[in-house]
Amino acid sequence: MDNHISAVMRASTPLELSKYYEYITSRVKEEYELASRVRAETGSPVPVVEVSLPSDMAERVEVLVGPRGVASLIRDLLEKCDEDILPFRLAETLLKRYDRINDDALSQVLKVSLAVMTPPCITAAPTEGITGVKIKKNNDGSNYLAVYFAGPIRSAGGTEIAGAVVLADYIRRLAGISKYQPTDQEVRRYIEELRVYRRKVGRFQYNVPDEIVEFVLRRLPIEITGVATDPIPVPAYKDLPRVETPYLRGGALRVLNDGVIGRAKKVLKIVKVSGLDGWEWLEEVAAKLSEAKSTGKNTGLDDVVGGRPVLSTPGRFGGFRIRYGRAPTTSMAALGIHPYTMRLMENFVVAGTQLRIDYPGKGGIAVPVSSIEPPVVIFRDGSVMRIDNEEKLAEAERSEYKILFNGDILISFGDCVENNVKLQPPGYCEEWWIQEALLEESRKGRLSDEDRRWLEKIRRDPYRIIPPVEVACRISHKLGVPIHPRFMPFWDRISGREIERLRRWLASAIPKARKGWGMLILDYDPEAKSILEKMLIEHLVLDHKIALDLHWVKSLNFLFRPFIRVDVSKSSVPELISSLSGTSFRPRMGSTVSARVGRPEKAGQRRMKPPVHVLFPVGMAGGPQRDIITAANTRSVVLELVRRVCLTCGEKTWMNRCKHCGKPTAMMAECPRCGAEYIEPEQEKCPRCGEELKRTWKQLVNLKELYENELMKAYEPPPRVLKGVRALTNKSKQPEELLKGILRANLGLYVYKDGTIRFDAVNAPLTH
Ligand SMILES: [Zn+2]
Ligand SMILES: [Zn+2]
Repeated sequence: MDNHISAVMRASTPLELSKYYEYITSRVKEEYELASRVRAETGSPVPVVEVSLPSDMAERVEVLVGPRGVASLIRDLLEKCDEDILPFRLAETLLKRYDRINDDALSQVLKVSLAVMTPPCITAAPTEGITGVKIKKNNDGSNYLAVYFAGPIRSAGGTEIAGAVVLADYIRRLAGISKYQPTDQEVRRYIEELRVYRRKVGRFQYNVPDEIVEFVLRRLPIEITGVATDPIPVPAYKDLPRVETPYLRGGALRVLNDGVIGRAKKVLKIVKVSGLDGWEWLEEVAAKLSEAKSTGKNTGLDDVVGGRPVLSTPGRFGGFRIRYGRAPTTSMAALGIHPYTMRLMENFVVAGTQLRIDYPGKGGIAVPVSSIEPPVVIFRDGSVMRIDNEEKLAEAERSEYKILFNGDILISFGDCVENNVKLQPPGYCEEWWIQEALLEESRKGRLSDEDRRWLEKIRRDPYRIIPPVEVACRISHKLGVPIHPRFMPFWDRISGREIERLRRWLASAIPKARKGWGMLILDYDPEAKSILEKMLIEHLVLDHKIALDLHWVKSLNFLFRPFIRVDVSKSSVPELISSLSGTSFRPRMGSTVSARVGRPEKAGQRRMKPPVHVLFPVGMAGGPQRDIITAANTRSVVLELVRRVCLTCGEKTWMNRCKHCGKPTAMMAECPRCGAEYIEPEQEKCPRCGEELKRTWKQLVNLKELYENELMKAYEPPPRVLKGVRALTNKSKQPEELLKGILRANLGLYVYKDGTIRFDAVNAPLTH
């Protein structure tokens, strides 16, 4: 299995990928078949696995959101239109199918069209974030549309929130409903509610001035409202006739503040796709907001929490350097960090850690990526080391070090598109260099066969194939391209004067230097030393000497020509590089982002409190541990359980199979007033007299016998403890099979209240 997976990780061709998908599908099918067979053989109430495997997006939407038959409609529409217009076409087509347009129909249409707006259509926003819509009355007697948002919308993404509002307006117009006309009191209620929420519950992503909120509310074509999310009443405007709750409507507030207003640009983008008019006023909001933002001071250090370190501040040299791209471990909202950086930060950042950043979005989760620029540290003796292998990492971890450079943060281009931000200029990197070199070589064709072979090799794997320094200098010399980034200093904040200082030191120290361990050992000069440090050039400090790797000596000689007698102290760095070496300057650090540790992520088995192995009641007999084994040792216990009856022999029981004849039993109910008995009744009330039917009864259960039988059936050793529940909370009081609990207890697994075993995983987007 492991071997297979790692083979798959390397798979890059479509053929290999399709094999991978086939493999997953066939294994899933095997597991389903096995589970269904076990269910059939053990007489489980349902002999197959109920959870069906949806085949595509359309089917998933039908299963999760409905209505029935929508899957084939979605597939038809997708053949005729683009994905981004699909939600609107779907709303249109669906609405025509309803004879009567009422709240339920509109609500269903809104939910399903929102679901297809954000593939892969598995978020909770459509199903749990929106409770429904209502047609309500304006004061002039016309109808308007109100959308009710619930708490879960707060965790939805920007597209979903913005999309919900635009879709609602779209549907409103299709249904011929008028615009919402808020009363003055309703506007003031919103402003008051936002204020109370900020003070008592939590922050919003955007700080919006009151006048913008009012401007928006007076123009919004639909009412954004919702259910109470926090038991905090607003001090004023709490008894408005059209606002159902005096408490904070957290979902609605977030949609208004962070969705419509904060993500105004996103809303406008969706409005444009939909072809709706009447939203022009929002352009003004977007402009006003970016104005407010740019005048406001943003240090990236707002609401820093103790224990969650700040790792990089904005624009800081040596912070996380922006690198664009994607690794197999990163995708939307995932940020690649070098694994050695994680280690050097003493694991304050690990795979799955939430990071709060200022670019391109608000945050993401950290995942390790080893092919990006690694960190650089300085030791107590002044030695500077690029931590690019395990030995160096081990050496750093043994000593005291300070991080000079965090290394790269890998940001996917898709995140920049999604967040609608301008690309920040990146620092020079391998994939950039190879493009420049190939382009120049195709124009000039000056390289020798050997150097061309090098280019070809690097082109195939620019992250791992690094040319020797001689080859790198030759290629740059012949083509005039910048030096390969591995031999380029981080010279972004250096001056001509400092370069001149460094040149003079090299010119005087190199002739007197001696070689040792692949390094050149040069006389110590405090100023030159600090310039090397400032450019993150690796060097050792030993016995008051500076040891420089030979490749650095060669590239510094190539770039700065210390033995040419000129004074470059008045030149800018790009000028002097070009005049001395004939190559061009590129920023090496480029742009950095601010980053700090956000909410810590955790992964683990989800348990009930206290934890439970099996949903089987023990009453008071199990003691405080609710241990079924303890309870079984005492005597028979009286438990409130489901009523079942054997259809063959008439035996009344709670078990799925009759103890006497082994046949399956059926659920029954009894009328406490007239005494009538029903087998698997559909109704809640007695058809004869109207009294509520009784479906459970108190039964004497011989736990010892039951437990021992189950144990024998499974050939399992007895678990040390088998935790049940005090009483069943489900309506029919149907317990789980005790055997399941025995198996779980022996495997260290616990059950969740819906009968599933759950594992909360870190939300990391892994691709192949
Ligand atoms: Zn029977
Ligand atoms: Zn009755």
